[in-house]
Amino acid sequence: MTAHSPYLASLGEEDRKALEIRLLDRQTGHCFICDETIDLVLHGGQLDIDHIIPRADNGPDEENNFALTHATCNRQKGASDLRVARRIAEFEKLQRTAIGEGKRGANLGDVLGRYNGAKANLKLKRYPDAVEFTLTAVDKNDIRRVPLYKDQLSGMEYFFAVLPLEYLHHDDRINPRSIGANIRGLIEEFLQKRPQLHVALAWWSPESDGSGHIKIFDGQHKAAAQIMLGMKELPVRVFVEPDTNVLLVANTNAGSALRQVAFDVAVMRHLGSSLFMERVRQYKDMKGLPENNYSFSEKDLVAFFRGEHREMLRYIIDAVRDSITHNKDNGLMEFIEWAGKTADRPLAYSTIERTFFSEFIYMKALDAPLDNGMERGENARLLERDQIVRLMSLFAEIFFVGKWDPEIGGRKLENRLQKGDQIPENHLRAWRIAREEILANVLTWVRLVIENYNAYTGRMIDKERLLQYALPEDLWQRIRTFLNNLGALPCWIDKNLSNTVFGAKQNRDFWTDVFKTGKTQTGVRVLAEPLNLQTMIVNRST
Ligand SMILES: [Zn+2]
Repeated sequence: MTAHSPYLASLGEEDRKALEIRLLDRQTGHCFICDETIDLVLHGGQLDIDHIIPRADNGPDEENNFALTHATCNRQKGASDLRVARRIAEFEKLQRTAIGEGKRGANLGDVLGRYNGAKANLKLKRYPDAVEFTLTAVDKNDIRRVPLYKDQLSGMEYFFAVLPLEYLHHDDRINPRSIGANIRGLIEEFLQKRPQLHVALAWWSPESDGSGHIKIFDGQHKAAAQIMLGMKELPVRVFVEPDTNVLLVANTNAGSALRQVAFDVAVMRHLGSSLFMERVRQYKDMKGLPENNYSFSEKDLVAFFRGEHREMLRYIIDAVRDSITHNKDNGLMEFIEWAGKTADRPLAYSTIERTFFSEFIYMKALDAPLDNGMERGENARLLERDQIVRLMSLFAEIFFVGKWDPEIGGRKLENRLQKGDQIPENHLRAWRIAREEILANVLTWVRLVIENYNAYTGRMIDKERLLQYALPEDLWQRIRTFLNNLGALPCWIDKNLSNTVFGAKQNRDFWTDVFKTGKTQTGVRVLAEPLNLQTMIVNRST
């Protein structure tokens, strides 16, 4: 297992050994990725030589571009680039330490701590339109003067500066989030020499001695990625003596209600939902209705904006979709890729639209007033939203949480499996079940579980609006049992099915047949027997 390299391929055994010794010497005895010791005897035969800058990025096929790693480190690296793998391994160490200390994960404070940052307080001298400071802690005693601006809308004052890490601190009150797996993408981005587009936000207030911390509360991922790549100072916008509660609210809103304004489809949904709000406002204006009057229906809106009834309908549905994806209780969202092609997450947003949403959102305008049933908790759209969120979270709990490993990812997973890589069973199951053509069929069966329950208990419910009525708890229990039993089927972790069934992309009908008959149309057995609703809703674990 080594990189594809004509140079390495040309080496005899003795030359290869000599090269390993030279590289190890250059790396002071440590693995290039994990930085742990390499022992040429103990790790013999379990070492990789790989290109530091990949050949695909024009990295040369010569000794100064080679690094020696543990074979397992190189295999697990996920990213194609050793430089990224090395930073990720380092970050994972910080992560383990942070979790060992009882924190949820590493944050910018941990990264700063590792890189000699977060040490000093800054003294500021304020003038009406400027501030002055000096950087004594890094032996720079010259006095710097920068303009002080005033934000006209909020009244807050701020300045811009490039500050050494020693003066930067993390604000874990305003930004309590830890750093997520997307740090990898940012490291790759900065390595490709693409600049930071948004400057980090911080605030400063003096303590009794007139000096204070510069506390970064926004942009921690970008800051952390650049620090790990060796930056010794970072540009920041610093609010001076702000009301930090206002910053807290602003940052919370940016992370929830206003999130994702930069991403394609999901953004369109969000804009669609804003347009829905806007149309509702217009309608009330034109009809002279008071602020809190919602006694009109979706159908009234569609009829009123007759010239654009198609758009109006889309705005209504977008508002539903948007309220589901921005719901803070939605446990599936962290497994959804919003845009781009990285395979750190098992689901694409477009898959969510073509599975959960197309199966369970009622796609037509409703007759009932917008606020119908609100006080009794029976509002159809709210029930639909909350129950889809619950179903998505249940799905996440059963298949992804603690099971999907972003470091293994999904890139060429079936190929890796076929080549003999060890893929943890839980991870493999998560990847397979998340495939759109499979997920769509799974949800069709969830629908069957609900319809079957309704038929037996005499609930007369419109099949197009299944989730607009509250599902009883014993039905939720039944759905959970169904999903657990489905997950326990051996096919999801069967390596032998990689070539025949999972290796290629199949269409939905392919899986419809498999669930119905247990076999593919060409006769490959996937399930021991056809899926049977009655046995699939019996709890077998007790
Ligand atoms: Zn290693």
